[in-house]
Amino acid sequence: MLPTPQLPTLVILGRPNVGKSSLFNRLVGRKIAIVDDTPGVTRDRKEAEGRVGGRDVRILDTAGLEEAAPETVQGRMRASSEAALREADVALFVVDVRTGLTPADRAFAQWLRRQHTPVILVANKTEGRFGGQAAMEAYELGLGDPVPVSAEHGDGMGDLHDAIREALPAEGEAVAGDAERPLRLAIIGRPNAGKSTLLNALTGEERMITGPEPGLTRDSVAVQWTDETGAAVRLVDTAGLRKKARIEQHLEKMSAAASIAALKECEIAILVVDALLGMEEQELRLARLAEREGRAVVIAFNKWDAVEDREATKRRLEDALMASLAQMRGIKVVPISAKTGRGVEKLMPAVREVYALWNRRIPTGELNRWFETMMTRHPPPLSEGRRIKLRYATMPKARPPTVTVFGTRAEQLPEDYRRYLVNGFREAFTMPGVPIRLQMRGTT
Ligand code: GDP
Ligand code: GDP
Repeated sequence: MLPTPQLPTLVILGRPNVGKSSLFNRLVGRKIAIVDDTPGVTRDRKEAEGRVGGRDVRILDTAGLEEAAPETVQGRMRASSEAALREADVALFVVDVRTGLTPADRAFAQWLRRQHTPVILVANKTEGRFGGQAAMEAYELGLGDPVPVSAEHGDGMGDLHDAIREALPAEGEAVAGDAERPLRLAIIGRPNAGKSTLLNALTGEERMITGPEPGLTRDSVAVQWTDETGAAVRLVDTAGLRKKARIEQHLEKMSAAASIAALKECEIAILVVDALLGMEEQELRLARLAEREGRAVVIAFNKWDAVEDREATKRRLEDALMASLAQMRGIKVVPISAKTGRGVEKLMPAVREVYALWNRRIPTGELNRWFETMMTRHPPPLSEGRRIKLRYATMPKARPPTVTVFGTRAEQLPEDYRRYLVNGFREAFTMPGVPIRLQMRGTT
């Protein structure tokens, strides 16, 4: 089952109030955008699909992200933009010609110039007397010719569409999220689980250490290699890598903080579990973190060579998984010995399989056949004595799979019913180890 081809992605960047949301609405062409309001840590932003420059594209709006910590607007902007930029094929950098360029614009532009994503400079609010001359100032940013527009009035949109058309990857070319891009993998687990040993076993001699990476995480390094299927893999772990890359002399243990950072950056995580210790609270915590960040997980059950009673050990792991998160039931577990290399060759195929599921979009017809079965089996409960009527479901996006359910008083749906839907979805479409997002949209 192949993932649906990803649409090319545009991201709208810029400091607060320059008009990002207005431009987003203008490009999407309708006032209501699909809002991705997942309470996760990195995913709180708007995204929608629209037709731009004659192409279907996905548009991300980063507006609002930066306001959480006004004292460090630049840092916030950068952190949130960095995550969005990684998914994008083209960035629209918006400046406001009425306020003129600010130090924040300049700092941001300087950072953007060092990134690898093509940037279109958008000079906004140019209607009326703020045309030509005011927009000229934007040249100073060193991001090429500014495209003067008025997001509010719709001026200049033809030119902007043209600029976007030229900057987008050609049709049929790889876009962000395609298989041709390196899969971003994190290897997480408690200290001494065998993460570094596994990394060596996976990469062999082929490993290429890149870095320091441009941007926020100054001292992070990445390791890239091609797996046995010939596809590129990029490891986004930092702490575990630094140890082997000898960038730092001391032994740095993978802390919870480092795991969180790696989970934000990755698409899929390998959770390395020491089979001699089993699946304990620490491992469950990491699995929960992965779920919260929307990442899929495969378990590498390591040190298999040193396990004496394999049957009993396997049973204990299965019991622990059954008793834990619903997401973990049926999750891929690959017994390996990172040290001897046994079983390691089965790991990447398992990762690819889960990656395909994480990328999967269920056609609306199929989705709603499932949805109706769920409604028939267990109709939604009453809320304040009134029936909650759920009408239909859509799947606006994958990575992670996201289901939106529409209906009367849908947003009042109790938690256990939501869980019923999420678990039912995971089971029906066999997505163990894959986090599922559920959004409710009330209609009146
Ligand atoms: P964001 O914070 O970057 O998303 O900015 P918004 O889209 O929320 O816009 C900030 C303010 O600028 C709002 O009051 C908008 O109405 C205004 N604005 C947006 N685009 C234009 C424009 O083209 N011309 C003028 N004059 N105002 C605009
Ligand atoms: P990390 O802290 O998770 O990066 O763990 P390391 O890769 O440094 O490994 C911790 C210890 O476990 C080292 O002494 C390794 O030799 C040992 N180890 C790693 N993988 C295996 C394995 O498959 N079998 C056995 N018996 N020991 C292992």
